[in-house]
Amino acid sequence: MADYLERAYRILNESRDSALDAARKVRERLNEDPLFASLESECRKLAFEKARLASQNRDISTLNAKYEELSARRAKRMEELGYSAADLKPKFSCELCGDTGKANGKDCVCLKKIVYAVLSEGQDIPCGEEGFLTRPRLDVLTADARDAYKKLYALLNRYALSFPEVKKIYTLTGAVGVGKSYAAGAVSHALMRRGFSVLFLNAVRLNEIFLEYHLAPLHLKQSVFAPLTEADLLVVDDLGAEPLLNNVTVNYLYSLLSERTKPVMITTNLDAEALKARYTDRIFSRLLDKKNSKIINVAGSDLRLKER
Ligand SMILES: [Zn+2]
Repeated sequence: MADYLERAYRILNESRDSALDAARKVRERLNEDPLFASLESECRKLAFEKARLASQNRDISTLNAKYEELSARRAKRMEELGYSAADLKPKFSCELCGDTGKANGKDCVCLKKIVYAVLSEGQDIPCGEEGFLTRPRLDVLTADARDAYKKLYALLNRYALSFPEVKKIYTLTGAVGVGKSYAAGAVSHALMRRGFSVLFLNAVRLNEIFLEYHLAPLHLKQSVFAPLTEADLLVVDDLGAEPLLNNVTVNYLYSLLSERTKPVMITTNLDAEALKARYTDRIFSRLLDKKNSKIINVAGSDLRLKER
């Protein structure tokens, strides 16, 4: 199993264990109460008896009434002791899979989320504000920046609404601090609210995953690369900030852009010339390919700073 998967399962297991543990402690505390314990044991006996008679097609209406009465008394006693029936059920962080990572024989959606969090090493996706794309806080911007951002956010809003029917590679370029990562974060949050999975990776981290892939034994290679191609949207933030590793960075970036059938969003401080020089013609021509790609120059003052 790839390292990130092991870590994701460890997180899930811990969460499952603590939910089970909490529910067990509630039960222990309740059972210390003699009245609750006796009601509980009678309820159990009755439930068993009901099932036995029902399996022989016998009338269980009297038993049913008795059971209802006892279980109401049990619930009342629980309440007197400060608990409700819900406290006896483990509160898993994912109700779909009960924190096992598997639902209906498949990997659960929560596993994907945890895997992505592990891969991005807990880095928060910028711009957490709900509905930012549709309601950008333009009031905090200067008049010039306001116009630029109105256009940008209208464009990105359209992107988020049309997703996944969008250009395969979307590149946001512009100087340091114009709010590219912030804009990519806003798109990511909008897509996650629509139920899409987003893997938001800093280019430095992506490069580390490339290196992991390069060094992984053959049987693990596929699973190291899989999340990069499977996420509905992959954001590569700050392309150009990573060190160029021989036979790794450019090669695997090219493989990634070729193998991914789902959209990618890239942010970078590099201009066209610098991108071409650094990542060679073959990657550059993918970023520039008019049919499948779009490059947007983000201009304006620092949105992030003004937001804070
Ligand atoms: Zn789950």
